Amino acid sequence: MPPVTRRALPTRWAFPAFALFMLVLPLLPVPDFWITQSNYIGLYSLVALGLVLLTGVGGLTSFGQAAFVGVGAYTSAYLATAHAVSPWIGLVVGVVLAVVVALVLGAITLRMSGHYLPLATIAWGLALNYTMGNMGWLGKYDGLQGVPTIGLFGVDLGTGRGLHDLIWAVALVAALAVIRLLDSRPGRAIRSLKSGSMMAEAMGISTFRYKLTAFVIAAVLAALSGWLFAHFQRSVNPTPFSIAKGIEYLFMAVLGGIGNVWGAFLGSAVVRIVEDQLQVLLPRLIGTSGNFEVIVFGIVLVVVLKYAPEGLWAFVGRLAPPARRVPDWHGPQGAAALPTRGKPARGELLLDVQAVRKQFGGLVAVNDVSFQIRAGDIVGLIGPNGAGKSTTFNLITGVLALSGGGVAFRGEPVGGLPSRQIARRGISRTFQHVKLVPEMTVLENVALGGYLRSRAGTLRAMLRLDRAEERALFAEAERQLARIGMADKMHELAGNLALGPQRLVEIARALATDPALLLLDEPAAGLRHKEKAALGDVLRQLKAEGLSILLVEHDMDFVMGLTDRIVVMEFGTRLMEGTPAEVQASPQVRAAYLGTEH
Ligand code: ADP
Ligand code: MG
Repeated sequence: MPPVTRRALPTRWAFPAFALFMLVLPLLPVPDFWITQSNYIGLYSLVALGLVLLTGVGGLTSFGQAAFVGVGAYTSAYLATAHAVSPWIGLVVGVVLAVVVALVLGAITLRMSGHYLPLATIAWGLALNYTMGNMGWLGKYDGLQGVPTIGLFGVDLGTGRGLHDLIWAVALVAALAVIRLLDSRPGRAIRSLKSGSMMAEAMGISTFRYKLTAFVIAAVLAALSGWLFAHFQRSVNPTPFSIAKGIEYLFMAVLGGIGNVWGAFLGSAVVRIVEDQLQVLLPRLIGTSGNFEVIVFGIVLVVVLKYAPEGLWAFVGRLAPPARRVPDWHGPQGAAALPTRGKPARGELLLDVQAVRKQFGGLVAVNDVSFQIRAGDIVGLIGPNGAGKSTTFNLITGVLALSGGGVAFRGEPVGGLPSRQIARRGISRTFQHVKLVPEMTVLENVALGGYLRSRAGTLRAMLRLDRAEERALFAEAERQLARIGMADKMHELAGNLALGPQRLVEIARALATDPALLLLDEPAAGLRHKEKAALGDVLRQLKAEGLSILLVEHDMDFVMGLTDRIVVMEFGTRLMEGTPAEVQASPQVRAAYLGTEH
């Protein structure tokens, strides 16, 4: 196994050293020009930081961040100039407005598939820019002049050295908050968004909720930047909040490295400094003035995306010694236990599948299939490829909607519930096509399974008030990994594992949900002989511990030695049900199933 070489986390001293340097900068004999540049870099970084969280981590693109900057800027500028309201009140109103707009835009678009958010952010950016440019009370295209400076504890911060540390304090605190968030329960939920919603929802995570969370945080960071910007420039006009600027913010994040908090700072610094130089240089080269730097940025963006998709930070990170990516975890000593659910008594009717049916257009993939699972049993669901096993599985777990029939779990109807709700009732699953978050460690992936047994939210994570629960989550994840014999791999990145171990990690993740029933979809597919034997041992051990399992398998030999009963499917219908011996002896099964094999 190659060493884990994610250099994303700064070493312990890097953050304090950087913060200290930025905060003493105005006290040093640095020319005013560079203080101004540093102010701009801090302002841009705030916006780019939001894009790292939203786009880089969450996989959602927004072109409209400049418009949120505009909301923060115009709100405070208008209140201060027209109504002599304190900038601090303007800050609160501006942030609240940005949150409201983000919630409305997000609620409309984030439930839909990927492309609606970028389109909506473009529309919103254009609409807001048009509004700012056409409203008399907002000064139309001239904007608002005479915006006051910010006062803090009776000291006027001005627009240069005084304001520098406020800008950078906000940017650094925001960076710290985002870093902390990413290493937490809600942060793992956001980091799982890029891997598609099916897995996260099966772990009980509302993907919509976390998309919205990331969108709102990004909007708030942009509005904070706008507020500082308005009182730094002492005037506002629509130009800096246009779609062009929104694209430039995205460019900063991509150039710096959109998957990394520090990429936001690096990208902002490079863009600000180069932009400033180009504005002087290009007109001299070309002979006329104009925003030619936009063309240069466009070309650079294409080159970066093609040759360095991880951005410039990847090159800086390479200078640092490779760090093993270990989350905030130092062993289970003293960790509290997560809550557990009441377990069914042996023999209790656990799952009652009642004539479930699924049609895809004209194809009846599952044709009125019924079977039951009692607590403590391992039931096999077998059949040739295309028999409808996975579809049945997805009907039980709520991934697919039923065309007919019903499903009851522990006496309660669960047919038609979303998979999140079914997970909450104690059914957990793995996937035929493994769904791990490749850039998270094995331990973090398994901790996703503990999501429903824990509670920490975004604010608690940012304030680091979630550490006791986080320890409990990781202790549980480690325990489940030990249960399947994979504790020694817990700090590996999941994406670095071979398929066999990945399938075992999926089982550990499902076990971390504390399930009453475990559903495994072809856990042995693609495994080597030895890995299959090891998996068989794990399943036998889980059964000995009293767990109930529904095992969907294509491989007949694998299920024969493991299961109490077997349901055989063919062409969407239930062919027969019986003990392994009965199934093996059945000429019907032989003809239908084995016939296709041999
Ligand atoms: P198995 O898991 O037993 O191999 P599946 O349940 O995956 O079989 O598929 C059963 C049948 O349903 C197949 O003919 C497959 O092509 C079809 N099918 C599965 N999913 C879909 C879908 N989303 N849309 C249309 N047809 C589907
Ligand atoms: Mg299948």
